[in-house]
Amino acid sequence: MQAKGNVAQFGAMNAPTRIVEVLLPLALAIPYSYRVPEGMTIAEGDYVRVPLGTRELDGVVWSLAGQAPKSGKMRDVLARHDLPPMPGLHRQFIDWVANYYLEPKGGVLRLAIRAPGVFAAAPERVAFRLSGSVPEKLTAQRQRVVDLLADGPPLSAAEIKLIAGVGASVVKGLEAAGVIEPVTLPGLKSFSLPDAACEGFALSPEQAAAAKILREKAALAASSVCLLDGVTGSGKTEVYFEAMAAALARGAQVLLLLPEIALTSGFLSRVEERFGVAAAGWHSDMRPRERERVWRGVADGSARIVVGARSALFLPWANPGLIVVDEEHESAFKQEEGVNYHARDMAVVYGALGKFAVVLSSATPSLESLVNADRGRFVHVRLADRHGRAELPEIQLIDMRLEKLQNGQWLSDGLTQAVADTLAKGEQALLFLNRRGYAPLTLCRTCGHRLHCPHCAAALVEHRFRRVLMCHHCGHQEGVPEACPGCGDESSLVPCGPGIERLAEEAKTRFAGARIALLSSDLMRGQALRETLSGVAQGQYDLILGTQLVAKGHHFPNLTLAGVVDADLALESGDPRAGERTWAMLAQVSGRAGRGQKPGRALIQSYVPDHPIFQALAKGDREQFLAHEKHMREAAGLPPFGRLAAVIVSGANASETDRFARQLAAAAPLTTDAQLMGPAPAPIQIVRGRHRWRFLVKTARGVDIQAYLRAWLGPVQPKGSLRVDIDVDPYSFL
Ligand code: ADP
Ligand code: ZN
Repeated sequence: MQAKGNVAQFGAMNAPTRIVEVLLPLALAIPYSYRVPEGMTIAEGDYVRVPLGTRELDGVVWSLAGQAPKSGKMRDVLARHDLPPMPGLHRQFIDWVANYYLEPKGGVLRLAIRAPGVFAAAPERVAFRLSGSVPEKLTAQRQRVVDLLADGPPLSAAEIKLIAGVGASVVKGLEAAGVIEPVTLPGLKSFSLPDAACEGFALSPEQAAAAKILREKAALAASSVCLLDGVTGSGKTEVYFEAMAAALARGAQVLLLLPEIALTSGFLSRVEERFGVAAAGWHSDMRPRERERVWRGVADGSARIVVGARSALFLPWANPGLIVVDEEHESAFKQEEGVNYHARDMAVVYGALGKFAVVLSSATPSLESLVNADRGRFVHVRLADRHGRAELPEIQLIDMRLEKLQNGQWLSDGLTQAVADTLAKGEQALLFLNRRGYAPLTLCRTCGHRLHCPHCAAALVEHRFRRVLMCHHCGHQEGVPEACPGCGDESSLVPCGPGIERLAEEAKTRFAGARIALLSSDLMRGQALRETLSGVAQGQYDLILGTQLVAKGHHFPNLTLAGVVDADLALESGDPRAGERTWAMLAQVSGRAGRGQKPGRALIQSYVPDHPIFQALAKGDREQFLAHEKHMREAAGLPPFGRLAAVIVSGANASETDRFARQLAAAAPLTTDAQLMGPAPAPIQIVRGRHRWRFLVKTARGVDIQAYLRAWLGPVQPKGSLRVDIDVDPYSFL
């Protein structure tokens, strides 16, 4: 539709002015109007370049029915990019996400076009082929090049030099002599078509029954959600591969979402083995060229399988037909900065809008998903057995109240003995402690001074390997002081409590000679991490010490013992999901043991072993745990039985922020539908020099919590350094 009525105002008499609305990837709530120059063809979803102030920006045509602004002059679209337009479904999805999370649409759009190079012309490379005229006599070197090009595809000069073993001058000489000629080829490697008919493993009867349900759903262009619920090692991956095969067979694109850290090369090769092609990966440490290649491949539909972290959801899918969310209970799917979205929840929304199947997979499904299954909204597909001989590990509690540990020691006699026995048998053991660094707190023995972050109300964590003190909230780093900054005493600073690095110290003395892998996200990332993980899988290490990054998704066949050093850590937060998180984490860690042919066991150290969660875990009784957890949440009206939204007010000045928070509280709409709690000082009251206050809004499940937030905060315009951040369905309460 073209805008009528603007003709007289703007256009030449015989050429009606066309006005389009262009959404820009900035924190803007609405698209802006631009005039389409004569002769330019423009469709909805087109990527265009437009002026804004003194800048030029790339955005997306959100609507063809643009209105001329009441005042101010309208500017022209500068260019239309030669890219497949963003599909209507994807634009609808972006609108939906913006609406639900009360985020500016432009901010959500930014997630979809965060790929370098895509708005430049597609890169090309120059290759050489034979021109057809080959002289009779050639030098041996030149002959090698001619032979190479005679029976193969065109090659770049670099490839020719490498394969034929000749110098640059030989290639140049052949080109000058007209024997070879340059051709331009696409600069990015294209994607190969997966082989959907490729067969996986022969499935057990239980796996086959689950796969049948998933395949049927994935073969349909209809929305559905299956919750694939099976213990670690039960073959969930094999089963959802079947669903992927079914979606690929009907020509659709498939997205497999994983928590970032589970995106290992091992996992990617498993996908490659199953489908015969390398899957496109999407995660934070990709090279820009690869990022561009995957973005383009997703947009033109040629990338058929993408294995990615949460942001892959926002790639501009041409033809999405299935989303699998593995480890669906993981809080890593919740983004906590910029746009606060939950990728699992939004995958379900995308499937509903786009009419395709979504599979959520986990050994410890979230309470949200289990309750959705109870309510009949998700199809509950269970796998009870571990594949083959591998059995679920036996879980034992160690009552730390009875242990007499020396200063600087954290391993009980029972756990120490178990690790020693395991190593003696030539098997691997894992010690899990979810705390990075050496010690969570450093204080002065003389005056009691604590080392604090200068920008946050938080202790500095010592990282001894890197010789720094670090703030885990803002990233501030400083050297470890020689003397106490409080009283000036030398060598009076003492570390308090264990971090994974300090545990390593203890492990080295207790298990002399063991090859120890220390896995912590701050010590190792990307390629180095992937290599160490595969080294563990191949048995190059005896003892693995790790933070939460070892808990997830890895398959270490020779690992038979998992020890949890401090099971109480996660319980101590004021988070409504603390119990569920503790359960999931302990079950996942325990599940690392005994995934191969040998049985595994797990030892869990706790000072509150009588806690219902630990009791249920020791019995392996998930139903008992769930009943307890559902009861607690339902009684408190917490998700998934009620809805929550957090509002965080922050500012550079303490009293100004405090005053502003109180003004907001006074301006809240009066209603019995929503319960407003706060303002209360946030548990971490200062982060990066900003003072923080929190509100929590709680409503019944059926209440439109967004409408309440809009009515309340819509008119608010924070001034100066003040800021209001809204977090719908919050997962962090700090
Ligand atoms: P989960 O995803 O539930 O943790 P996986 O799919 O990773 O389980 O399976 C665990 C291990 O068992 C993997 O090494 C997998 O290849 C193997 N496996 C699962 N099902 C079969 C099968 N039907 N035949 C052969 N191997 C299987
Ligand atoms: Zn800090």
